[in-house]
Amino acid sequence: MGWAIALHGGAGDIPLSLTLGSRWPREEALHHCLQIGVEALKAKKPPLDVVELVVRELENIPQFNAGKGSVLTNKGTVEMEASIMDGRTKNCGAVSGLKTVVNAVSLARLVMEKTPHVYLAFHGAEEFAKEQGVETADSSHFITAENVERLKQAKEAHRVQIDYTQPLQNGTKEETSNSNGEVQLGTVGCVAVDSYGNLASATSTGGLVNKRVGRIGDSPIIGAGTYANELCAVSVTGEGEAILRATVARDVAAMMEFKGVSLEEAASYVIHDCMPKGTAGLVAVSATGEVAMPYNTTGMFRACTTEDGYSEVAIWSAS
Ligand code: ASP
Repeated sequence: MGWAIALHGGAGDIPLSLTLGSRWPREEALHHCLQIGVEALKAKKPPLDVVELVVRELENIPQFNAGKGSVLTNKGTVEMEASIMDGRTKNCGAVSGLKTVVNAVSLARLVMEKTPHVYLAFHGAEEFAKEQGVETADSSHFITAENVERLKQAKEAHRVQIDYTQPLQNGTKEETSNSNGEVQLGTVGCVAVDSYGNLASATSTGGLVNKRVGRIGDSPIIGAGTYANELCAVSVTGEGEAILRATVARDVAAMMEFKGVSLEEAASYVIHDCMPKGTAGLVAVSATGEVAMPYNTTGMFRACTTEDGYSEVAIWSAS
């Protein structure tokens, strides 16, 4: 038994040839956000506060596909989405279709705490954000030059871009790093458990490059991209449609609940045996402080620390 935290900055076919210039800022960001989460857990902050804090920080870093730095829709706009869940109470909140909210994860938490609902989207979510007085910004805050270029490339190739690779129209796959070797970005998520076994999970994303306006992925869907109960907390990343079909986050918890298997076994089974190869990864913690971070893609930006001193920041399996 002990506290533990794990976070991710997206899974995909991250090219092993990733330039140091692309790799370094993301690894630095993972270290930085992990540190913030660890300090918060050590200061006895509730896991729900910890995951919100860490995901807010990740949303503010433009190298990741959430908040500032969100990828663009087919109309060149941002539509951000997020969710958060408390394991002990199973209270949860989710938002989609945000265009002005700086920290989607905090609005998801407000949906959970200030409304009788779980999920608000588009106009209603924006209206709720205004009512709550959360920080908003003009679209220029979220849209980066890199994402304008990514959308242009995706449109030229007539494709919806799923992270680092995506099926082309003819069903083959190609690497989608930009000509300058800059990789596509990743959704962010964080899971945490305190030394009393309280668990929480949060996930936030801009979705997919060139996604159709109105498309909702797995990240705001409780049970698909995010889940937490009294046994574990899970945040998923990858191809949203595949993750939705497989209800990945809930399946990990269900394996533990109904089959009595360990977190490691459940997470590994769901990612490696239930999901098509190259589609998903997740970070998860259990009530007893175990961490699992399996992925079936080439890599996943990820980091974790446990109370007993284990710490890792990694992209590929050998790094
Ligand atoms: N799962 C996200 C989505 O499909 C993308 C990602 O994880 O990078 O919207």
